[in-house]
Amino acid sequence: MSSADRPQLAYLTDALNELKQKGTHFRLRVLEDQQAPVCHYDGKQVINLASNNYLGLANHPELIEAALKATRELGVGSGAVRTIAGTMKIHMDLEEKIARFKNVEACVVFQSGFAANAGTVSAILGKEDFILSDELNHASIIDGARLSRAKIKVFRHKDVAHCEELLQEVANEPGRKLVITDGVFSMDGDIGPVDKLGALAEKYGAIMMVDDAHASGVLGRNGRGSIDHFGMHGRVDVQVGTLSKAIGALGGYVCGSRDLIDYLYHRARPFLFSTSHPPSVAATCIAAFDILEQEPERIDRLWENTRYFQRELRRAGFNVGGVNTPATETPITPVILGEGRLTMDFSRALFDEGVMGTGIAFPTVPEGKARIRLIVTSEHTRANLDQALDTLERVAKRMGILQ
Ligand code: PMP
Repeated sequence: MSSADRPQLAYLTDALNELKQKGTHFRLRVLEDQQAPVCHYDGKQVINLASNNYLGLANHPELIEAALKATRELGVGSGAVRTIAGTMKIHMDLEEKIARFKNVEACVVFQSGFAANAGTVSAILGKEDFILSDELNHASIIDGARLSRAKIKVFRHKDVAHCEELLQEVANEPGRKLVITDGVFSMDGDIGPVDKLGALAEKYGAIMMVDDAHASGVLGRNGRGSIDHFGMHGRVDVQVGTLSKAIGALGGYVCGSRDLIDYLYHRARPFLFSTSHPPSVAATCIAAFDILEQEPERIDRLWENTRYFQRELRRAGFNVGGVNTPATETPITPVILGEGRLTMDFSRALFDEGVMGTGIAFPTVPEGKARIRLIVTSEHTRANLDQALDTLERVAKRMGILQ
């Protein structure tokens, strides 16, 4: 059955045609081997600068071994949601491990970072409450805010004074207030003002929540995240992280007080109504946190590669943020082109020449701020990066993007 046979679905085809006309329609690229610095997408060998596999853990031999061992011993599925019969000891072991790592009382793991954010925000707030949210916060925070039915106040990106103005406007309202920011913003790579917003939240008696999806494994001691980076331990009530990026597997988690976590057990809908991870995923993540403790040099390499790559891109004349967009401070490296069609064409041309970088256009980023997002990892060699830099420069000159 296709939409052509179903007139009630014709509007979907129309919407896709509109994207095609704008040049922002995409096809999924298919990875044919492992998530690695050099790999094959759609039959083509490319230098992979598109994944969030910051520390190369997605195919780390010890993690693979941990997954296999857990599968052999514990099976492939957990069989139920956590509250019915799907809480396995290995889930609890992972949560204890993360709680110790993050220096908090307790932790609960969700099926994804998206579920962690959306499930938590919608559980802890209700329609009498207020959410003060950075305009560039992740979609999962926005969706959680909408699901909560709380009143949403959006402050300008990283504008702490604007957040305070909004807090003042609602200070006398009876509802609870939640200040929420990404620790690292996923499209620009800049760091959220967790310290200043945390202090502001305390001043107004608001709950403070940080989404550290891109900060965990990247910022702070051994990758403990933005709260550690800013020395804010004990001052952020709700810390979200993901197991899908630097940790290399899949999932999300919330860290905080024992009561916060117990409350989420009872109220967070993805926890209550969706089956928990297979044991292999939990085992993989436990092994990954061991590696963060044992191999801090991975994080050092990530930062060395980041500094080198971004310096060379700037030297070549690319806009890697900071002009009309935030300046990156992390391995997330936007190459801003502005126009959606040009960006998608550039991304396709780079792919044809062996460099995989994601083209991102409206609505994921604002109109006029389309970009290629490049992410270096600890595992790229200098030769990989140099080859990618050469290609970027050559293709950009050919397309008139660089002089
Ligand atoms: N928060 C941010 C800032 C993200 O970039 C992402 C991933 N795109 C998520 C949350 C969701 O994490 P996950 O992929 O584990 O669902």
